[in-house]
Amino acid sequence: MIAERYREVQEKVMQACQRSHRNPEDVTLIAVSKTKPLEDLRQAYEAGARDFGENKVQELTEKIPNLPSDIRWHMIGHLQRNKVKYIVDKVYMIHSVDSLRLAEEISREAIKKNLTVKILMEVNVAQEDSKFGVPVEEAPQLAGEIAKLPGISLEGLMTVAPYVSDAEENRKVFSQLRQLAVDISGKNIDNISMNVLSMGMTGDYEVAIEEGASLVRVGTGIFGERSYQI
Ligand SMILES: *Cc1c(COP(=O)(O)O)cnc(C)c1O
Repeated sequence: MIAERYREVQEKVMQACQRSHRNPEDVTLIAVSKTKPLEDLRQAYEAGARDFGENKVQELTEKIPNLPSDIRWHMIGHLQRNKVKYIVDKVYMIHSVDSLRLAEEISREAIKKNLTVKILMEVNVAQEDSKFGVPVEEAPQLAGEIAKLPGISLEGLMTVAPYVSDAEENRKVFSQLRQLAVDISGKNIDNISMNVLSMGMTGDYEVAIEEGASLVRVGTGIFGERSYQI
């Protein structure tokens, strides 16, 4: 079941790439496995999934040692500074950096462990009160400040779009995030690339790909409904 759904989502990713004349190699499907048991993750792995997304530090640190070591783990949830030390050397990328203080903590831990940590800056494009993320207007300046920190590689932007019944409603959110990445790139800040756009979830990942997503984060579409909401 999970393997089948994973392949179906992959197929839709491919089709969205074709529609928008994009190279499928430039789009990575992240299987968002939060709240799901190891067995479900193993099934997705067997179907070919190598990128997994989690949003809780404790869940990540419990799952990682029990699954194959070639998995790239993506931290996609809000991250508290005091927990950075538990994951910096274990995750492939942190998508949810939304303050200088958090970036500074990641930098400190990265230096301590002699690492360069890939991060994305989370932007609150839709300006929903309940969401984390930097306001669009503050994003270029924060990007410049983060870029100065050692041990961090700022690779691009991430956003969580609103929950909508019609994915088309989020097209504007995705194109705004892409435009913001173009604007920040245009400032030619040293040590920044804005090549990665993490956007699109189960309800709207195809539209996100059409608008330039390089990472799509799909949970329900692969693993089914979550029994509790996080
Ligand atoms: C849970 C979650 C997802 C996946 O959501 P689905 O609608 O189940 O695909 C994607 N991104 C973030 C940040 C999440 O927390």
